[in-house]
Amino acid sequence: MYDFMPYRPPSEANSALIRVTRGCPWNRCVFCGMYRDTKFELRLYDEIANDIEQIEDFFPGCETVFIGDSNSLLHKDLVEIVKLIKKTLPDAKRITSYARVHTLHVKKVQQLKAIREAGLTRLHVGLESGDEKILKRISKGTTPEIMIDGGRKAKQAGFELCFYVLCGIGGDTQWQTHADGTAKVINAVNPDFVRLRTLSLVPNAPLFETWKEGEFELITPLNRLNETKRLIEQLDVSGCELASDHVTNYLWAPEGIIYQGVDGKLPQEKQWMLEILDATIEKVKTRDDVADANTLVQQGYIQRL
Ligand code: SF4
Repeated sequence: MYDFMPYRPPSEANSALIRVTRGCPWNRCVFCGMYRDTKFELRLYDEIANDIEQIEDFFPGCETVFIGDSNSLLHKDLVEIVKLIKKTLPDAKRITSYARVHTLHVKKVQQLKAIREAGLTRLHVGLESGDEKILKRISKGTTPEIMIDGGRKAKQAGFELCFYVLCGIGGDTQWQTHADGTAKVINAVNPDFVRLRTLSLVPNAPLFETWKEGEFELITPLNRLNETKRLIEQLDVSGCELASDHVTNYLWAPEGIIYQGVDGKLPQEKQWMLEILDATIEKVKTRDDVADANTLVQQGYIQRL
């Protein structure tokens, strides 16, 4: 079933993987190179059922399941598919999937509830930015209003909701509006998780060419820290966990890794996260030898993350 590389969130690293679609039905976000050459397809129910029957052979002892690829909610048989996973693995602690916020927006809450009641527990959604102009520039195909409506519907239907924020996607000129707009959307939805990823340029994504042509300026390590601080300062949510569980968030200096991101519960650990950011900002602003993942790629130390 995984005839090409599966993409899944790091938090699903130990999950059994069931592919119900191939690729991405949108495939236009300028920073994304994941499915550029893959034609979007809905897999046949019988093929998927056959995979589910073999799930314990391929993923012995698995306790959680992730359904791929990028927007499983489009599959018309998803309720039946999730029920079959539950029947095959009745003790599964979690069944999760990526979802496009636009799909959440156009679906009725009742339809989403049916999927939730079948046993899908958590949705991973790429928010990227809450700023309207940035969303347009990156061809996300959505608006802050749609993000808010789609996110709220997912919560109403009873899903655990995880929003992914793309740090640095405003470049070095729009990081303030990126942080401000993103905080507004998050506050309006109050997701269960916010996960930070930092923009990492990939050669097969259109943004790579834009950057090479000098039309997009990558954010500096210092401004990325400022952006994250500005975002967290404005967050007004409860029962939410913020995580920086991705290596793209790291900063390196000659002595080694000097920043791995911030993680904590909101609002309880907000102050603590801001203190870490302040201390790192102080450290970084006095030196010019701090590198992020994009710098390491450009300097040839690593191929890509
Ligand atoms: S970021 Fe998500 S929605 Fe956008 S092209 Fe990539 S897989 Fe599709």
